[in-house]
Amino acid sequence: MAPGILWARIPLPFRLNHVNVYMIDDGDGWAIFDTGIDDATTRNVWEHLLAGPLYGRRITRLIVSHFHPDHIGLAGWLTQRFDVPLVTTQTSYLLCLNTSLSPGALDAQFYRDFYLRHGLGAEATQVVCTRGHDYLRMVSPLPQTFFRRAAGDAIALGGRAFSVLSGDGHAPEQLMLYCAEEELLLAADQVIAKISPNVSVWAVEPDGDPLGLYLRSLTSLKAQIAANSLVLSGHQLPFYGLVTRADELTDHHARRCRAIADACRIAPKSAAELVPVLFSHLSLDPHQMSFAFSEVLAHVNFMLRSGAACWLDESADVLRLTA
Ligand SMILES: [Zn+2]
Repeated sequence: MAPGILWARIPLPFRLNHVNVYMIDDGDGWAIFDTGIDDATTRNVWEHLLAGPLYGRRITRLIVSHFHPDHIGLAGWLTQRFDVPLVTTQTSYLLCLNTSLSPGALDAQFYRDFYLRHGLGAEATQVVCTRGHDYLRMVSPLPQTFFRRAAGDAIALGGRAFSVLSGDGHAPEQLMLYCAEEELLLAADQVIAKISPNVSVWAVEPDGDPLGLYLRSLTSLKAQIAANSLVLSGHQLPFYGLVTRADELTDHHARRCRAIADACRIAPKSAAELVPVLFSHLSLDPHQMSFAFSEVLAHVNFMLRSGAACWLDESADVLRLTA
């Protein structure tokens, strides 16, 4: 990607079929940025990287952007194997730990009722309420300590000075690294070419506004990052033009909110009934349905906060939005 910055694409067994990881020159070795999930394929990729492009220099530290399994999955394995520190945000560490320690916590009637009240079907509700177990299958146990980094910190890697940024909306307190001198941003999943990062409301924070946080984060990224920076994301290809891409993503969400408002003016709709409005081109299995639903709800909560829509009857068994 640049002198002393390597990029590897690791397969994922999902519709989104890969994740990008980066290796950054760190003096006498390599710092690793993100890991892939914990499965045999990913471990095998790392073995090949270590015996190939990374051979002959030590691993110095592991930096993890956020707690999703495709980014933190092998953190425990890599840090233990090389006896290196895990560097991440406090929220990433604690969310991963929390889900790992209590994978069944979402499988409770309280959460089930939440999804059913928004009109989600029983099968998709089952998927979303048992997601903690899926998570655990993709994540190796975290090390017992970590090095916290937060927005505003500086990290020197090799000869480069990076500043730590954090963004919200896709995952809370997602860590990004920016080298101002070279106009180089490791953006993780905050800004991605071609796909819109998933922004979802989860049952543990039913009134949360991740879309509002995400849009604010895009605005602050545009203010902090040189417009034509090279952006190295967690998925898809590296690209130039962060400001253009951030504007496209902002417009995309504005269009989705307008589509929801239009649909609700014809007839009030539950969050689940709004899924086909935003995802009409896909036939969704229960797994995809649960993600699509949670993304729709993010738009609904954003519109509720801004006054663009309201519930028809807050005491109804199934909540329906009207605009
Ligand atoms: Zn990701």
